[in-house]
Amino acid sequence: MYIYICSHFEMVNDLKRFLHWGPITFFSLLICVSWTTLHMNSMLWPPNESFASMANLGIYLASNMMTLLNFIRAVTAGPGYLPKKWQPKHINEMKFLQICKACDGYKAPRSHHCRRCDRCVKKMDHHCPWINNCVGWGNQLYFIYFLLYFALTMLQASVILSLAFYRGLFRRHFIYHGMRHLATIRLNMLNAMLTMFSFGVAVGSIMATGKLVYNQMKSVFTNQTEIEQWIVKKARFRRVLNAKHSQMFLYPYDLGWLTNFNQVFDWDFQQHGDGIVWPVRKGCDQYTLTREQLSQKLDKLARTRRYRCIYPATGHWMPIWSQGLMTGICIPYTDDPRICLEPNDLVHVTRIQDYWLYGERVQQPNEKERRKGPKRGWLPSRCVIEVTDNDESAGGDGDGD
Ligand SMILES: [Zn+2]
Ligand SMILES: [Zn+2]
Repeated sequence: MYIYICSHFEMVNDLKRFLHWGPITFFSLLICVSWTTLHMNSMLWPPNESFASMANLGIYLASNMMTLLNFIRAVTAGPGYLPKKWQPKHINEMKFLQICKACDGYKAPRSHHCRRCDRCVKKMDHHCPWINNCVGWGNQLYFIYFLLYFALTMLQASVILSLAFYRGLFRRHFIYHGMRHLATIRLNMLNAMLTMFSFGVAVGSIMATGKLVYNQMKSVFTNQTEIEQWIVKKARFRRVLNAKHSQMFLYPYDLGWLTNFNQVFDWDFQQHGDGIVWPVRKGCDQYTLTREQLSQKLDKLARTRRYRCIYPATGHWMPIWSQGLMTGICIPYTDDPRICLEPNDLVHVTRIQDYWLYGERVQQPNEKERRKGPKRGWLPSRCVIEVTDNDESAGGDGDGD
């Protein structure tokens, strides 16, 4: 009974993942391109004409099926979430790990908290809005297969659509010159518009997918997720700046391109290990990367500046009315959240632009129910003033009263 309820619960959760603009847009575009391609293909290369035209249709249908299958697997298998309140087996290992307040536990090596999934994700690469899920330990292989089959489908569709459109456009010309076998495409308003639209979608998809395939294969061969590439870059940069570090940072999970490749491309479709303990190269241990992350966090803390809110921030993306024209125009071009502030809120700021700052609001005790919305994000710079140590001690006394 328990298993039945659990599997039912998981199924409902899986279905919810599909009810999001990402998967819905993907399915709608795929249906539009596939329907138009099949319709044009039936006039261009009717499958009953020759073995080659039959094979062409067979390959197109098969790659469509494989695209769908791997897309669904990438969504439903998920990246693998770290259990909530997770802790390492030995207490003395806790000091090497970061704490995740949202999951009320420790972050395992290679795990990161995803704001959108609201969970810590094993070997997190990135959150993909198209599959409305993270790409990580559990579904990276399905995600890569999905990208490859999708690119193949769109490539074939773009060839069929462009050729069909060309033949349709010059139909009269072919008839006039006695080439009736090339004059099989009849264009009308609807199928001409759909062909042009689908061709645009197909070419756009090939370019976007090509970039993603390149990123993913780079990540597979180096055994570095997108997030880890960023950590390694910072680790090397810190060593260049700091004369104390005489040795280069040794990335622990790079075991040579072939072993790295085999770790993801398992022909039995089995994920490697448990997503928590990973094989490391000589001279490294399980916590080489997490220790580096902790040091980077300390560096960041040292760079952090404290600000106090003097004017409420609405959390709007273009607050022209409340914050003035320039703040409304010069917005940061990222999809990070915008935070709401009330006077006297304290913010730890890590990034500074002319009209906007990026930081984290300091949570007051017993505040959890009272305040909604994200704690970390962008805020208009005119809402806050910097707090120096002197101001802070004066403010602290005031708060204590
Ligand atoms: Zn977490
Ligand atoms: Zn996510």
